Amino acid sequence: MQTEYDAVIVGAGGAGLYAALEASDAGRVAVISKLYPVRSHTGTAQGGIGAALGNLEEDKPEWHAFDTIKGGDYLVDQDAAAILADEAVQAVYDLENMGLPFSRTPDGRIDQRRFGGHTRNFGEAPVRRACYAADRTGHMILQTLYQQCIKNDVEFLAEFHAVDLIMDGPACRGLVVLELRTGELHTIRSKAVMLATGGFGRMFKTTSNAYANTGDGLALALRRGVPLEDMEFYQFHPTGIAGLGILITEAVRGEGGILRNRQGERFMEEYAPKLLDLAPRDLISKAILSELKRGNGMRGDRQIDDYVLLDATKLGKEVVEEKIPDIADFCRTYLGIDPAVQPIPVQPTAHYGMGGIPTDLHGRVHRGGGEGSYLGLYAAGECACVSVHGANRLGTNSLVDLVVFGRRAGRHIADFIANADLGRVASGSDSYARDKVARLKSGKGAHGGKIRETLQKTMMEQVGVIREGSEMRAAIATIEGIRDDYREARVQDPDASFNTDLLELLELENLLDLAYVTAHAALRREESRGGHTRSDFPERDDGRWLRHSLVRLADGKPEFSDKSVDTSLFAPKPRVY
Ligand SMILES: Cc1cc2nc3c(=O)[nH]c(=O)nc-3n(C[C@H](O)[C@H](O)[C@H](O)COP(=O)(O)OP(=O)(O)OC[C@H]3O[C@@H](n4cnc5c(N)ncnc54)[C@H](O)[C@@H]3O)c2cc1C
Repeated sequence: MQTEYDAVIVGAGGAGLYAALEASDAGRVAVISKLYPVRSHTGTAQGGIGAALGNLEEDKPEWHAFDTIKGGDYLVDQDAAAILADEAVQAVYDLENMGLPFSRTPDGRIDQRRFGGHTRNFGEAPVRRACYAADRTGHMILQTLYQQCIKNDVEFLAEFHAVDLIMDGPACRGLVVLELRTGELHTIRSKAVMLATGGFGRMFKTTSNAYANTGDGLALALRRGVPLEDMEFYQFHPTGIAGLGILITEAVRGEGGILRNRQGERFMEEYAPKLLDLAPRDLISKAILSELKRGNGMRGDRQIDDYVLLDATKLGKEVVEEKIPDIADFCRTYLGIDPAVQPIPVQPTAHYGMGGIPTDLHGRVHRGGGEGSYLGLYAAGECACVSVHGANRLGTNSLVDLVVFGRRAGRHIADFIANADLGRVASGSDSYARDKVARLKSGKGAHGGKIRETLQKTMMEQVGVIREGSEMRAAIATIEGIRDDYREARVQDPDASFNTDLLELLELENLLDLAYVTAHAALRREESRGGHTRSDFPERDDGRWLRHSLVRLADGKPEFSDKSVDTSLFAPKPRVY
């Protein structure tokens, strides 16, 4: 097996593939993916990618940037948001030129639809900004970029799981990977390594995220001393299928779907009189919980697992089948209903981590504390924090983030590898990974299943949509307990080949570490902002908290510092919709 590359990209989602495509112009590039590449989670993205093309009505990148900043409750770095909105337009046309089959207007232009929090003229009314390919936008992006990577001779190491980064002071020299087919560990040397490993929704019980979304890249970085940014901000999407968490895209509301409580009332009239059902996700999730608390959920029992209805019956069969065909299929398969005829039972579902590995505008990973960036270490996509989503991401802005900042990182990597040498990798660089695997195979304690269950329940109930100090302290104590249990956890399956038991235990450690710093960061931030709502600190507090948090693990314990927010374009204001 080839073990030396100019650049290695960990992750074959939209961010990783775009970076690989750009970097492959300058050298030998490999993409490592624990999944078969086109099964990456980007493929599940449904509703659209935001770009101010103005194809159906006037739109401008400045308005997109403003919506992104306001949507993120002013914790967004505004220089990054301006780049996101500006470069989104060309990025969408570039994808179109690569062959991405966008849905079209009758006169052949890329069609656009409304999405939550996207407005014209700085908040006046919803605007059609989301470019889409029915409700398979992410799938089309993934296939298009994968084909381009193949054309550009990018190499794919599919079903290889990254276990550790090889750091030499502030420089990254490569990584250690587990080959799933053989169970062997390999050391790979590379001038540059980019982490594009996606999200970590699996730390919560009810989630829209796939089993593979265990935050591996963030946890690998965290354990090698890299600080993580804004981990307290986790988004709950308002419309997961009740009891299952499977996502019902915001595009349903973009096309005219309405949320109703048990009295049949359009309750968003009370919470967001102007944008109604197209208000940002944090506001709608909170509104749903508030309705449940009042006894207005469909069961009316005031429990957080009660639900409301998403009524798409006014759309008509034709629109449903043409614009949201996969959603219609999900409803038939999982609920046995036709959404054109019957409303969909929904409740908030854990969806997206706004925080992550801190990067600059070229994907270089920050060291924190004003120490500049690591050499040869990059991150982009959901695992990174540049930060364009601040305290709450707007719908369609993740796909934009992937293509804009994935591409920027790829271009920087291309320049970097053209002038860098392969660094030396000291012998024994794989000892941490080897010891870890050996320890798990000789563990004497329980299997990981129980630990995972406790973790997901604790995070859902005590570090979920509405948070409170004493509950989070209890959650931290529970997580400390199960982190101790994990030290004795054991692999039951003795096989070397495709040992998913081992894989799940490696992933579980990542979830445990990330949940631990998430709960600590949430407890530390004594205010409510975007996706972080504290019942004991209900107001936003710009005086104390208009700043990013950075957390490291020092001897296994969290250590915090802060980072300023770029507010160079729009002064923070109260957030009203
Ligand atoms: C149901 C759903 C619908 C969505 N709809 C939209 C939408 O309409 N618009 C929008 O903007 N956003 C949407 N999002 C969010 C968006 O899809 C994701 O944030 C985004 O696709 C993440 O892309 P990524 O490239 O960062 O990572 P992913 O696409 O998640 O890819 C991660 C990659 O990392 C690899 N990997 C992970 N760990 C390891 C490891 N240890 N070793 C090797 N490889 C590893 C995986 O194999 C995979 O290839 C949606 C999300 C969900 C869940």
